[in-house]
Amino acid sequence: MSIKVSSVSKFYKSQKALDSVSFSADKGQVIGFLGPNGAGKSTMMKILTGFLKPTTGAVFIDEINVLENPLDAQKIIGYLPEHNPLYEEMFVREYLQFQASIFKVDKSQVDDCIVQVGLTSEAHKKIHQLSKGYQQRVGIAAAILHNPKVLILDEPTTGLDPNQLIEIRALIKKLGKDKTVLFSTHIMQEVEAICDRVIIIKKGQIIRDNTLVELQDKQEQNINVIFDSSLTSAKINQLENLISFKDLKDNTWHLRFTNNEDMRPKLFDFAQENKVKILELTTSNKNLETLFREFTN
Ligand code: ADP
Ligand code: MG
Repeated sequence: MSIKVSSVSKFYKSQKALDSVSFSADKGQVIGFLGPNGAGKSTMMKILTGFLKPTTGAVFIDEINVLENPLDAQKIIGYLPEHNPLYEEMFVREYLQFQASIFKVDKSQVDDCIVQVGLTSEAHKKIHQLSKGYQQRVGIAAAILHNPKVLILDEPTTGLDPNQLIEIRALIKKLGKDKTVLFSTHIMQEVEAICDRVIIIKKGQIIRDNTLVELQDKQEQNINVIFDSSLTSAKINQLENLISFKDLKDNTWHLRFTNNEDMRPKLFDFAQENKVKILELTTSNKNLETLFREFTN
């Protein structure tokens, strides 16, 4: 087990930030840690990386007890904090060499990491000259200098423009090929784009822990359709992928389908086969975004 969190609770004075959180992760998974602001994501990550002590509970990284041996654990963890401080007056390569010396990593690793995170063209610049997306790459490069097995990234894509978002997501996905990655976000699409699994946290409690495939199964297509003449319920019931349907009268039906395939063209074929015409068709799909809102509201 790469990450194991066992009944972790954290109080900041009387404020409860984490409430008996447990989960574990196998090697090589990319896990999205999803939740609204204030849910407890950063608190959990600080505890996982040994920078904050839980009030109760235990965490293990690769079988190392983080509370008992934080320094040993940190040798195999890469951490990108939420507000990652960078020395903006330093040059990219110089900064990374400085970080390497602090963490007693061979400086030859620096150029490797620069290539890995796609910083080659920017490595000679000062950090403050870089765009936010490239600054984020500097943070990620610093986090992987010691080739950690587990990578913990706290909101790595917050504040990036759409192109930078895509690039950083691709980078996380790439790093996930040989590392266990836990990254936090409040964007559901992010999870869809890069994760194998999503853990949803709300008010300090885990309310969902599903693989992406399981979540996608929960998505559905809701379609309201008005035909020009009447059809029997028995006929409607013959539609494929139907979860349920409701007769709203006046030849109007509310249909719920699984997300296996786009049912709109199928409905037009169905109408033709049954010699009726579609006057109106509207969809209100339950995608990951709406599911997330349902979970967290
Ligand atoms: P997230 O990262 O999901 O936005 P946080 O872990 O930062 O959530 O915060 C969880 C809760 O704990 C919030 O209610 C926040 O206000 C509170 N909190 C976080 N850090 C501190 C702190 N140092 N002192 C007091 N309360 C804190
Ligand atoms: Mg946070």
